[in-house]
Amino acid sequence: MTTQQTIEAEYTWDGESFRAQLQVHVDGQGRITRVADAEGAPTRRLARRALLPGFVNAHSHAFQRGLRGLGESYPLGQGDFWSWREAMYALVLSLDRTSMKRLCVQAFQEMLAAGFTTVGEFHYLHHSNLGADAGELREGDFAFDEVVLEAAAEAGIRISLLQSFYKTGAIGRPLAGGQRRFATLDLDRFLQQLDRLAAKLHVRTQTLGLAPHSLRAVPDEDLRRLVDEAVRRGLVCHIHVEEQRREIEECVAATGKTPLEWLLAHVPVGPHLTIVHATHSTPERLRRFVETGANVCVCPITEGNLGDGLGDVATMLTRPDAVCIGSDSNIRLDAPEELRWLEFVRRLRHERRGVCRDSAGDVARQLLLCGTSNGARALGLPVGRIEAGCWAALIAIDVYAPELRGANADTLLPAFLFGASGSAIREVCVGGRWIR
Ligand SMILES: [Zn+2]
Repeated sequence: MTTQQTIEAEYTWDGESFRAQLQVHVDGQGRITRVADAEGAPTRRLARRALLPGFVNAHSHAFQRGLRGLGESYPLGQGDFWSWREAMYALVLSLDRTSMKRLCVQAFQEMLAAGFTTVGEFHYLHHSNLGADAGELREGDFAFDEVVLEAAAEAGIRISLLQSFYKTGAIGRPLAGGQRRFATLDLDRFLQQLDRLAAKLHVRTQTLGLAPHSLRAVPDEDLRRLVDEAVRRGLVCHIHVEEQRREIEECVAATGKTPLEWLLAHVPVGPHLTIVHATHSTPERLRRFVETGANVCVCPITEGNLGDGLGDVATMLTRPDAVCIGSDSNIRLDAPEELRWLEFVRRLRHERRGVCRDSAGDVARQLLLCGTSNGARALGLPVGRIEAGCWAALIAIDVYAPELRGANADTLLPAFLFGASGSAIREVCVGGRWIR
């Protein structure tokens, strides 16, 4: 429970522009009840600040924060996603409850400082043990599921725990090595664990979603059931799709279809479904996918770090609310930087500016949507906007920070997204509670 409050900053984002003398009224539950012209003294005045909706990080693997600085030398001139994955598995095998919790708290605290007030945690590292039993593969203890929820509560971030189903090491191949810590071998038991977690959530800041890991890790029949189950339960469903060319080749060899083609043919596709990456997806399939109301999460900094390739964001944005962002491997946590990468790498590729722009040609406003309300849509959460009915998920940027000097109400948003970083963020509010 927080107390009822009225917040007034020097400028407040109203969805279109920054406005002065606006007040945001928040109830004791942490929900915005009204945004209106100032009347009377606020209970919290944020002088020299501009208020924006908190950013939504729609795709994270918090524990991968432990890989930062590792695996960045390539003595043989070779280094790709698959060699990075081997380093990730070594980390996976080294973690216990204490180190897992420490890494997750660290990642979530850093997200808050970077402007992310909500995280979609795509959680597949379930077990603190390997779960082997007399040589036969058994699931581990699911101890890390609660560790992630505890870490989010300790840091103060809103979390949608996207509980991941992970059954095969590659199509038709059993789990091996570190992958055994991801094991969910039986769908009914997996759903029972989901129900157990539902009973442990913090009501105001924690929700669940389903996350079949990928077509390489989830057999067809299980995948169909998982998406159906998400629809039946009213949960969002997220899945990694077409990040790597090899992943597409293996799927075509096994099923005759690419992963996205398979999804379009075999499961209900719509606003409940979010594909992550879609780096090598064809424009035609992407167009069909977003036309259904479904979402795409792009992770520009991680995709750049891993050398994945460049997804066709211009086609994804044929529906302006289709694209959201994720910090994925958490190699770098900074919301403005994540967003400017979304645009800048495509400027470099296409030798033109303004790839991610709204119907008025405004890039900063389109990027803000990708970083806020589009992510909220993909997670099915009422955040990402400063308006009645949404949770008060807010960030306050320092209008007088050195990197923003000279900006006015009209130029502040692009100045912040292109010229500043999370360090210009001074206050962060999650569900009415001021974290910093
Ligand atoms: Zn991922």
